[in-house]
Amino acid sequence: MNDGLPPLREIVARHGLDARKALGQNFLFDLNLTGRIARAAGPLESATIVEIGPGPGGLTRALLSEGAAKVIAIERDARCLPALAEIAAHYPDRLDIVEGDALALDPAALVRERGSGGPARICANLPYNVATALLTRWLAVEPWPSIFDRYVLMFQREVAERIVATPKERADYGRLAALCGWRTRARILFDVAPAAFTPPPKVTSSVVELVPNPTPLPCDARLFSRVTQAAFGQRRKMLRQSLKALGVEPLTLLDAAGIDPTRRAEEVEITGFAALARALEEANRPAPRDHAQTDG
Ligand code: SAM
Repeated sequence: MNDGLPPLREIVARHGLDARKALGQNFLFDLNLTGRIARAAGPLESATIVEIGPGPGGLTRALLSEGAAKVIAIERDARCLPALAEIAAHYPDRLDIVEGDALALDPAALVRERGSGGPARICANLPYNVATALLTRWLAVEPWPSIFDRYVLMFQREVAERIVATPKERADYGRLAALCGWRTRARILFDVAPAAFTPPPKVTSSVVELVPNPTPLPCDARLFSRVTQAAFGQRRKMLRQSLKALGVEPLTLLDAAGIDPTRRAEEVEITGFAALARALEEANRPAPRDHAQTDG
C-alpha cells in the first residue's frame, strides 16, 4: 500500500509517540497486516467504519486506502491527534477524529450523526485493557440488532478463545462466550504474532469476526446478563445452588427453563441461559390485580 503519506515509523518519531502501556498501546506498522485486517471488514466502498484507538493511524490508513467511505476514529491519547489530522487532510471528508474515551461514547450515535449512510461496522486493534468491556457494552445494547452489521476486532488470543467458546471448551466457556454466542456468530479469522507489534506484547493476538444474529433467542439483555453472572459466578457449583444469587427460588426457574438442577453453568447451552432469563422475567412479573378486591 502506497498511500502517499509518510511511513508510519517516521510519523511516530516526528510526533514523539512512544507507546504507553497504560493506554494498551501496541502499534502495527506492517502494511500487509493492516491491509488484511481492513479487508476483513470489507467490502468497504459505501461503509462507515468506527475504529477504536487509531493511535498513529496504521489501520486507519489501511481502511481508507482500501476504500472505506467514512472512518470515525475514537482516540483517547491527545498526542496522536496531530498525526491523525495529517491523514484526515490527505483523505478530505473521509476521516472524523473523535477525542475521547470509547467506553464513554456511543458508537451507534456517532454513526447516525456522521456516517456515510451505508452499512456500519466496527474495526479495531483494541486496547487490550478495555477490550472485553467495550465488546460487552456493544453487544448488550437494546434493541438488537444494532446499527452495525459486523465487528472485526483484534484481541489477545486467550480472550478470542473465550469469545468463541462453547460448552465443549469448558475452561473457556463463560459469560463472554454466552453473550457473544447469544447475539452474534463469532469466529477467529487469524492469529497475529507478538513480533508484528511495536512494542511486542507478551502473547499472541487474534482477529475475531462477530456477525450479529438478527433473531437471537428472545429475552431481556439485562436479565440474560444477571443469569449468566449468577451461574458463572460460582461455575463449579450446581445451578440449584449458584442461581440463589438471583433472589428467586432456583428450582422454580430451572423447572420453567427445563434444565436439570444438578447441571453446572459450563454445561448449559445458550438456549438454556435465554430460557432462564425468560423464567426470571416471569418470576419477577407483578401478580395481576385481584379484581374482586380492587374493582367496584
Ligand atoms: N490502531 C493502532 C494500531 O493498530 O497500530 C493502535 C492500536 S493500540 C493496540 C490501542 C489504541 O487505543 C491506542 O492508540 C490507545 O491510545 C487507544 N486507547 C486506549 N484506551 C482507549 C479508550 N478508552 N478509548 C479510546 N482509545 C483508547
